[in-house]
Amino acid sequence: KQRALEEIRDLPACTPDGCTVSLLANIGLLSDIKVAHLHGAEGVGLYRTEFPFMTRSSLPTRQVQASVYRKVLEGFPDLPVHIRTLDIGGDKGLSYFPHPKEDNPFLGWRSMRLSLDREDILREQLAAILIASASGKCHLMFPMISGVDEVRRIKAILSQVKDELTREGRSFDPEIGFGVMVELPAAILVIDMLVKEVDYVSIGTNDLIQYTLACDRNNPRVKKWYDPYHPAVLHSIKKVADAAAGAGKPASLCGEMAGEPINAVLLMGLGLRCFSLSAPNIPRVKEAVRRVSLQKAREIGDRVLAMESAQSIREYLEAAQRELG
Ligand code: PEP
Ligand code: MG
Repeated sequence: KQRALEEIRDLPACTPDGCTVSLLANIGLLSDIKVAHLHGAEGVGLYRTEFPFMTRSSLPTRQVQASVYRKVLEGFPDLPVHIRTLDIGGDKGLSYFPHPKEDNPFLGWRSMRLSLDREDILREQLAAILIASASGKCHLMFPMISGVDEVRRIKAILSQVKDELTREGRSFDPEIGFGVMVELPAAILVIDMLVKEVDYVSIGTNDLIQYTLACDRNNPRVKKWYDPYHPAVLHSIKKVADAAAGAGKPASLCGEMAGEPINAVLLMGLGLRCFSLSAPNIPRVKEAVRRVSLQKAREIGDRVLAMESAQSIREYLEAAQRELG
């Protein structure tokens, strides 16, 4: 097994007809860096910064954050690292940060909403990421974006933080990439406007499925309604891929969905060329990419988009999976 892993690790994720897909890792802890390399990750598509906040007993200062982010960037020399700003609330809390009790935490004060209301926390984090950006190929990523207003507000804050750092004589990457996560149905509906405002988008299917289908991602009682194959989810993904391609901006997908090989094939068929996934899933997804032609993936994508029921999509994909071996 170890030998098989080593063999595939350094091979490109390229289809027999020459379509290359990027496979990056989702990480949270510094110990994930090693795991990512072990599985051949081509960088980090999603670094969840909740972890450095969760493993401390008070809000980490800008210096503490910068040193953690720098370690991540130094762990991936010359490879892209997409650092996502704090995404707490919902199911993730901080022991030292009193969070109001909410009837609907996933519809409540979470993620970017919290960061925009607590601008002090956001500014410290942006400063820390910028300071670390001098050490690698760093990209900023903002979660739970609903539309253009939020993006413009974040940009205004970011530009003030950059000005401050410049005045302090700190070096940072002035061209740092600016991307947003697409995980709200609202973002899908205004995706043509959003892609114009950003350098790239990354689809977060864990939340996109939850919000599209109004189905709690952690509630086992409604698990059967939480379905990545619901046509609404797949058509949403297709809409993002098309909008990004139309605007000449990269689109990736960083939800758990991409960790399943047949799903990655389907997503390629819908037009995506970059996935960020839990690192141990990279080799098996790469194997599938190396075995299936882009032409076949597109055929699968087209067939699935024409289907009206999640159940028939599931059955069709199971058959396709068996056929691909
Ligand atoms: C997602 O929502 O798909 C995602 C990747 O982010 P998280 O799981 O951290 O919410
Ligand atoms: Mg999410």
